[in-house]
Amino acid sequence: MYQPIVGADSRYPVGFEALARWMSPTLGCVAPAKFIPVAERAGIIGRITQTLLKKALEEAGKWPVGLRLSFNLSADDLTSDEGIASIVDIVARSAVDPERIDFEITETAFIQEFAFDRVREAVLTLRRMGCGVSLDDFGTGYSSLSYLHALPLTKIKIDRSFVTGIHNNPSSYKIVKSLFALSKDMGLDCIVEGVETDAEMATVRSLGDALLQGYAFARPMPASQIDAYLDSAPSVCTEGPRAGRVPLIS
Ligand code: C2E
Ligand code: CA
Ligand code: CA
Repeated sequence: MYQPIVGADSRYPVGFEALARWMSPTLGCVAPAKFIPVAERAGIIGRITQTLLKKALEEAGKWPVGLRLSFNLSADDLTSDEGIASIVDIVARSAVDPERIDFEITETAFIQEFAFDRVREAVLTLRRMGCGVSLDDFGTGYSSLSYLHALPLTKIKIDRSFVTGIHNNPSSYKIVKSLFALSKDMGLDCIVEGVETDAEMATVRSLGDALLQGYAFARPMPASQIDAYLDSAPSVCTEGPRAGRVPLIS
């Protein structure tokens, strides 16, 4: 599935995040929070990542060239030599410019202390290819600031827990406001995740220009719906690949 990431002002998509689903003949649609940890424990996440990344790049190759692809990586993808080598290989073979790809990593990749140097090396490898690297679920771990300090990141994604009810919660408001300032000072883009309501959207927008993602804009959708979504994307498009284009449906 693909969920748009939109500009706070234009509300026009700048890219999509690929979100895995498993259609099991017996279990139906299984959420990634269920099957990804199992695949990690079973030692097969590398193969799943390869399959998903190939599929996502194939789809992204059909989008207008200004649109980016965000892709989630697991700890194993970053800490095993084969993991990162296969990702580099898949990106190199794809028709999508590496500069259009953002890999999303979380703090769980660093749980084992020895992994830090490996993760740093992996992030450097992805950056050297031209890809962006985002720190996902920012603020939920114990050491988000250390990673921000030590890794050559390009984006942070502020976790949904700081956004839910932000219009009624002064501490969430202050945290998100401070993270906007921090990301700006550090020259990083900032994505606010999990914006669900108009009230949350209005409060976040009042704090400055960022990228937003959440049910308030669109739920994750199958690739087949992306064209129709782009044509009906709300608001006047002032930035991105369809700048100046009048949406077909408003
Ligand atoms: P994530 O990377 O933080 O992705 C955001 C999750 O929040 C997605 O859940 C998305 O559907 C959901 N979401 C988006 N907007 C809203 C909103 O406004 N409200 C609420 N309540 N939820 C929202 P999903 O698709 O179930 O994915 C869950 C997690 O599974 C992801 O969290 C990510 O950590 C992991 N995941 C998904 N796809 C992959 C993948 O291909 N590889 C790996 N390694 N992990 C993946
Ligand atoms: Ca993510
Ligand atoms: Ca997240």
